[in-house]
Amino acid sequence: MSIAENLKKIKSQAGAATLVAVSKMQPDEKIDEALAAGQRCFGENRVQEAQKRWGDRREKFADLELHLVGPLQSNKTKEAVALFDVIQSVDREKLARALSDEMKKQGRDLPCFIQVNTGEEEQKAGIAPGALPEFVKLCKECGLNVIGLMCIPPVDEPAALHFALLKKLAAENNLKNLSMGMSSDFEKALKLGATHIRVGSAIFGVRDYQ
Ligand SMILES: *Cc1c(COP(=O)(O)O)cnc(C)c1O
Repeated sequence: MSIAENLKKIKSQAGAATLVAVSKMQPDEKIDEALAAGQRCFGENRVQEAQKRWGDRREKFADLELHLVGPLQSNKTKEAVALFDVIQSVDREKLARALSDEMKKQGRDLPCFIQVNTGEEEQKAGIAPGALPEFVKLCKECGLNVIGLMCIPPVDEPAALHFALLKKLAAENNLKNLSMGMSSDFEKALKLGATHIRVGSAIFGVRDYQ
């Protein structure tokens, strides 16, 4: 199937949920195909790669919506705040403060998701579920516009458990949006209330990591 066909199919499955087309590590031709098919919401996980790809395209497509879905170093917040429209990976206090300061400086108020480490995996970014209420409070005190939670479930556990946990945590913390579900599990995530799905390879094909 073509990229346009993939997008059409996944969009119809997504219904009212936002489809974030994750374009990291994909060739530019494929991105342009998605743009030609009308897709405007994209996700990237690296600031520098995103700057290269979207710098010029930004100007051509005024209605573009770029989501940062990958880890952000606090020393890259300036570039990130200038380029992205939504930050999905707020995962620690230092970053929350740096983002808040930078947004004030640039006069931007980007919607943010807090990344939750639902599997409490040591190597994975995100706030532990138990520490979430306090972190939400801190973000609000900093003036960050937190609109929801994001998670990446452990690869070796049923994703549905983690989606259900994320939903519960969002309800407990009065947050509306749930960014969960990737190519292999977005259908499950939608059933469990995802408002944003992040889909890469099911749209663009496998990534070329060379
Ligand atoms: C790469 C990536 C995705 C998309 O993964 P696919 O399996 O290709 O759909 C989604 N979310 C995050 C955070 C990613 O880094």
